[in-house]
Amino acid sequence: MTSILSAIKHPVFEQKELNVFIKRDDLIHPIISGNKWRKLKHNLLQAKAENKNTIISFGGAFSNHIHALAYACKINDLNCIGIIRGEQQYQNNFTLSWAKHWGMQLKFVDRKTYKLRNDENYLQALQQQYPQAMIVPEGGSNTLALEGVAEVITELLQQVNYDYLLTPVGSGGTLAGLIKADSNQHKILGIAVLKQDGYLKDEVNKLLGTEHSKFNNWQIMNDFHRGGYGKYKTEDASRILDFINTSGIPFEPVYSGKMILALLDLITQDYFPKGATIVLLHTGGIQGLGGMAERGLIDASLWPVPNRVDI
Ligand SMILES: *Cc1c(COP(=O)(O)O)cnc(C)c1O
Repeated sequence: MTSILSAIKHPVFEQKELNVFIKRDDLIHPIISGNKWRKLKHNLLQAKAENKNTIISFGGAFSNHIHALAYACKINDLNCIGIIRGEQQYQNNFTLSWAKHWGMQLKFVDRKTYKLRNDENYLQALQQQYPQAMIVPEGGSNTLALEGVAEVITELLQQVNYDYLLTPVGSGGTLAGLIKADSNQHKILGIAVLKQDGYLKDEVNKLLGTEHSKFNNWQIMNDFHRGGYGKYKTEDASRILDFINTSGIPFEPVYSGKMILALLDLITQDYFPKGATIVLLHTGGIQGLGGMAERGLIDASLWPVPNRVDI
């Protein structure tokens, strides 16, 4: 399934003579939005090929990955277990009530247990407990995820000639998939949405594997996290809202909105040469606005908040 590419008009782009396009992976599926669809695709195919009947994965109580996985398992006739960081009380929040509605079994663990999510011994024990299950890491970021993300590049090559590709970066799986498939043809900029030093670069290189050093046309930008994961200032929010209103495209302030702010700031800094063509990857994540509205973190009348499960 190919996601559409559309041009974005904005006075600043015109003034600086930049061509800006957005690849609408947020629209790739009505429910499983954006990069989570891309990352899960080959994981689910592999699970079926190995005759597994269950997927187990990890996430926070507001996780886009958990939301996407629950629906993806439902339509693929797979059982699904979400190991959720935090308390039972979250089970009726926006994200998890949908996940439950689609049949995901929720297992709440404390922070200490959740920290073991990549620990070999812990995962081995989990696998023994559920021999028929495939265990997918948090965010769906593993080497199988890269194959699905690669299709973004294949599609883009048919859609437009471009110089730069921008994506938000959380765990690095999406960025790694883009880098690998692009193979140095375009400049790929990952916008880190969390505060870190070299951690994400190492994660991306790990996912790229032994040949990672041959990929040299990419960069993680560390100055646009706005204070850390999920954090942002009132002014950041109003700039994102302005952009939503100008472009007519929905964004949220945790991932895609931070990419937009980074783009605007980079343009102000004259980072992009005149005439450059820039593609933004809209990774989705709009479901996250549901939980933010619920917690009173955003004004639901201003943001494109989706509907709560109504059962
Ligand atoms: C998960 C997510 C990301 C981060 O992707 P990674 O592959 O973890 O770097 C970016 N945008 C949205 C909307 C997401 O849900």
